Amino acid sequence: MTGKHVFVFFGVATLAAVLVSQALSRPMAEARTLPPRSQRPVTAAPAETDIETLVRLSSVAPAVLAFGVERQTHLNALKACPGLAPAHAEGVDRNLVVTRFKPQVLIAGSVRLSSAPVSGGCISSEFGYRRGRLHKGVDYFSKVPVPVFAAGDGKVRKLEYRADYGNMIVIDHGHGVYTRYAHLESFGHVRKGDPVRAGDFIGRMGNTADIVLPRHLHYEILTGRWGLNTGSFALTPVDVMTLPAAE
Ligand SMILES: [Zn+2]
Repeated sequence: MTGKHVFVFFGVATLAAVLVSQALSRPMAEARTLPPRSQRPVTAAPAETDIETLVRLSSVAPAVLAFGVERQTHLNALKACPGLAPAHAEGVDRNLVVTRFKPQVLIAGSVRLSSAPVSGGCISSEFGYRRGRLHKGVDYFSKVPVPVFAAGDGKVRKLEYRADYGNMIVIDHGHGVYTRYAHLESFGHVRKGDPVRAGDFIGRMGNTADIVLPRHLHYEILTGRWGLNTGSFALTPVDVMTLPAAE
C-alpha cells in the first residue's frame, strides 16, 4: 500500500466504525404498548371476566408466537401466553404448548373451522367459567395487530361496533354454526352479507370497546338459531377445545 492508500483505508475504516457504533446506540423500534394501568381510564365495568388477567399479561409483554409462514391463515400450534401458564397447568406442557389444541375442528358434522384464525399470538384466556361468569370464547393475545381470518366458509352476518365487543364480526357458516370475532382494530374489505371463504382476511387484532383493553382477539364458536331480537346472543357458545379435529 502506498501512503495515500493507507490513509484512504483508515479513513473508510473509521467511518464504518462510527456508523456501526451509532447504529448500536440507537434505541430499537418499540412496538405499541399500553400505558401503565394506573394511567388508563376505565369507563365502564368490564363485560368479560378475563380482562384483569389480560391487563396483567400485557404488563409482562409476552412475545408474539407465530408459527410457520407469515401468511398462514390460522395457527398450526398454540402456546399459552407466559403470564397465564399456571392457569393452564393441565393442558399445557413445559414449553407452554397447549397439548389439546387442534388447528382445525369439525362441528355439526360437516362444518370445518380454524381453532385460532390469526396469524400470530398466544392464548391468554380459555373458554369457561371464572368468578361465576362464562367466558364464551377464547382470547388470543398479540402485541402487534396481526391479521384475523374467517375461520371457515360462510357469510358475514353481522359487522358493527359495540360497546362491549368493540369492532365485531359474526360469520354464519350454515348448519346453525357461527363464529364471532371481537375487539378488532379494523375491518378487512368485508361488509355485512358478503360471502367469505376460510382464510379470508376479515380484520386486524385490536383492543376496541368502550373500555380499555389489551390487544386480543375474542373468538367464539356458536351454535343454534339466530335470535329474532337477540341475534347472535341467542346462540349457544361452544368450547373449541372440546371439538373433534377435522381430518
Ligand atoms: Zn374474551
